[in-house]
Amino acid sequence: MSKLLELKKLSKFYTGDRSVVVGLNEIDLSFEMGEFVAVTGESGSGKSTLAHVLGGIIPYESGELLFDGKATSHYDGTDWEHYRRDKISFISQNYGILPGNTVLGNVTCALRLIGYGKSSAYTRARDALKKVGLWELRTRRAAKLSSGQKQRLSIARAIAKPAPVLIADEPTGNLDSENSKIIIELLAEAAKEKLVIMITHDYAEVENYCTRKITVKDGRIASDNDLRPVRKQESKKTQETVSAEKNKKKLGTYIALQQMRMHPVWCGVMLAFFAVTAFAVFSFLGTFISAIDDTSTRIYNPSAFVNGAKERIVIKKADAADFTEEDLARILEADRAVKVERFGYASDVYCYYRKDVDYSVAYELVALPGGGLDPVHVTEEKLRLADSAPFLQTVPSLADGSVFLKEGRLPQNYFEAVINCNEGKLGDVIPVYLRDDKNWPIDSYLAFYVTIVGTTDMNGIYLADEVGRQLNAKLQTENHYVYVPRASASYTDITEEEYPEDAFRCSDICFLKLKNKYSLAENFDGTYYSFAFKSAEHPDGVALLKYHGEATAPKIYEKDENGNTVQKKQTVTDPFKGDIFIETKYSAFLRLVGEGYGDQVSLYVTDYAYTDRAIRDLNEMGYVAVSPYKLGSAKQDADLAEKRVDTLTVCGIAALGILLLEIIMLRALFAMQLSSYKLLADLGLTRKCASRSAFLQLILFALLGQTIAALAVLTLNGRAEAIGALVKYLQCHHIAILCAVHLAGALAGTVWVSLSLKKQVFPFKERYADIDFEEDGE
Ligand code: ADP
Ligand code: MG
Repeated sequence: MSKLLELKKLSKFYTGDRSVVVGLNEIDLSFEMGEFVAVTGESGSGKSTLAHVLGGIIPYESGELLFDGKATSHYDGTDWEHYRRDKISFISQNYGILPGNTVLGNVTCALRLIGYGKSSAYTRARDALKKVGLWELRTRRAAKLSSGQKQRLSIARAIAKPAPVLIADEPTGNLDSENSKIIIELLAEAAKEKLVIMITHDYAEVENYCTRKITVKDGRIASDNDLRPVRKQESKKTQETVSAEKNKKKLGTYIALQQMRMHPVWCGVMLAFFAVTAFAVFSFLGTFISAIDDTSTRIYNPSAFVNGAKERIVIKKADAADFTEEDLARILEADRAVKVERFGYASDVYCYYRKDVDYSVAYELVALPGGGLDPVHVTEEKLRLADSAPFLQTVPSLADGSVFLKEGRLPQNYFEAVINCNEGKLGDVIPVYLRDDKNWPIDSYLAFYVTIVGTTDMNGIYLADEVGRQLNAKLQTENHYVYVPRASASYTDITEEEYPEDAFRCSDICFLKLKNKYSLAENFDGTYYSFAFKSAEHPDGVALLKYHGEATAPKIYEKDENGNTVQKKQTVTDPFKGDIFIETKYSAFLRLVGEGYGDQVSLYVTDYAYTDRAIRDLNEMGYVAVSPYKLGSAKQDADLAEKRVDTLTVCGIAALGILLLEIIMLRALFAMQLSSYKLLADLGLTRKCASRSAFLQLILFALLGQTIAALAVLTLNGRAEAIGALVKYLQCHHIAILCAVHLAGALAGTVWVSLSLKKQVFPFKERYADIDFEEDGE
């Protein structure tokens, strides 16, 4: 019948850098079930080496180790893992217990590792702990036990494990004689159903208990004596061991939980670390992502759209039809919509008006080449110099229906306006000039007086819908219909019927005669149209605007009877082909302009960052939408572009750096768990299981860290400007990218941790050399 354990000419060498030390030299030994073997010898004789070779903890170089008659020389790492897990209970001088775990936890953990379920592990652990007298202390942390108690605990763990061989390497080395005696009695008890091999340099203490004494000297067996008869018993098969393979997944989770329970401080550090790295990745990568859009570095060119407000989106319908109220309501449902400007074209028309200056003295007279002044000449430059709204807006549909007016009310007809101006201006009448650089002939303006009926903090001048309709009407017809309302009922009243149908058609822009402050009559003789106005302050006439249509007659100057230079009056023979203005009644104007909206509206969103998302929403609704700011920003501002590249570089490098740091730090943090892994490995933890546990912990902490970082970002958003600027650019897929990158860092860290586990905890070769059976320092 084969022996339980057998060594045949087994040698073990320790190979150092230069020297080779012989640990065991061609040893022949055999052991049987039920023996209680004392291995003794001087220090350095090879006792521990023998114990560790038998325990499958270190490899041997030559000869053979047989278990149950089966050779082990061909074993690979996994075979040895199984050997240690199923055949051997190992007790070391330094106990090898998990100091962070409880007394009970130490035993159940070892049992779970070899495949026991929760309740059966508990029952076995309870029995073992009762045997060694530690049941009362089961909830105490192992680190708090006395030396004797610790060793008793390691024995409880060893006897709870159903392995047939129990090897103890100087288990009493650190104990006083009283405690030593307890330990040896426990081992003798265990020998009733196991093979117990105990290493000791103090043979006397075990003399009364052991069945056999082996003396080792210089790596050889010096003597081998049987002292007492061995109770013959059947070699106990390891049938009790439940297959741990089946429970691998559960076991990984279990070990992860155990590790976290044993290292609470470590958990805190990990969480903080992951939260910080996630936050850093979010910030740097988020800034990087937002800087990828280079529009902010571009200079706006108003050639396509005059109004290049960043938040503006211009919308048309796919079939170019006019917008309806329902359309406007739908449009306001787009992401972050603030207001709809119903007459999209209107806000691409320049509007000039002066907020605070007495209009009557606003324009200088220009000296004429032949002497004298040209009261008519007003340059574009001068108009631009005035405090002007960059563009006109008709009263917008506001998403929240309010916040628009500072005081007063909304305009209700063509002659009323809400403007951005100082207080005390309500009721003032001011002239406004509209001009479209692109579509209208050069120097063409639409001009009229408005009464300020309300003020606002928002930029621009807000006029009634009719103005928008009028402008849209012009846009829409080939014949350039322009409808000019009359400013005041005091002017020659013409009934609607008196206007011929085609009187409303003219070849170009017409002007409303300005007549509130100025007298116009002198220059208007029924056939000649000029636009100079006289007043008490400006008896020679104050130029307001002139009109250059296609058929503008050349200006001719001549001396009058007083010797002043004056423009020669000319006669326009066909009033419908030359410089024309036409008046209608307001009611007629409204009738002709109609009630509908145009085919183009503008939507404003809260911030440029949201335009993409709003445009996407609008496209989904079936509208055609563009951002004028994006379309019109073609040329780059060199300085801004450079800054953007700097931002991209810095943020990109910083994000990479953070990732690298994440990986390195993870490895370093995991080094804190390595000693626990080593102890668990001795108890049968497999490498796969250890890697799984490391993986689970990392993923858990990475996800928790991300959550904390995300919450921090959300909380700070709105308080810290930098965070707000970052967050508003991030869309769902961006956030997914950020989390994925951060998680990738954690995964890379896991791979490294797993490799270091392989190298430091599970290298079967020469592991003994760097195993430090010190206590796990918490
Ligand atoms: P004992 O346990 O009897 O005190 P060991 O088995 O620990 O003796 O050591 C036997 C011999 O092997 C000694 O000469 C020791 O120096 C050497 N030895 C033990 N472990 C190592 C090692 N990891 N590397 C090199 N030599 C070792
Ligand atoms: Mg030793």
